[in-house]
Amino acid sequence: MADVDALYQKVILEHNRKPHHYGELTEPTVTAGEENPVCGDKVQLMLRINSSHIVEDIRFTGRGCAISIASASIMTDLVHSKSLPELQQLSRQIIDIFHQKLPPDLLSQLGDYAALQGVFQFPVRIKCVLLPWHALEKALELCLSNR
Ligand code: ZN
Repeated sequence: MADVDALYQKVILEHNRKPHHYGELTEPTVTAGEENPVCGDKVQLMLRINSSHIVEDIRFTGRGCAISIASASIMTDLVHSKSLPELQQLSRQIIDIFHQKLPPDLLSQLGDYAALQGVFQFPVRIKCVLLPWHALEKALELCLSNR
């Protein structure tokens, strides 16, 4: 049996208990949501993007397993203050890492994602990790089509 402790590290549980940037954003520039019917995960992103295409603020709401909530929380830390082109690159990178097209040790450079290395032992949970990133990709597409 794979080590469940490796999946639920303290830092993951901490993000799940007190997610960063959780709540509603007033007057968002763009919103996008995503659902994972397998474990009932749901995430809704709200972003405020300024005229220089920088994310000025981000909030999320949602419910689901600890992995999906922690991933959304960690994601908002990484997304805040970045530009739209930087985010397109970052979301591609994260999705490729979790689809094992890029080496997992790249996670060590991506904030608290380093704590999510254990998820590679639980392939079904990779959808939970990527849920907020797929929502972000939707938001980025909306931004680009509205320019
Ligand atoms: Zn989940």
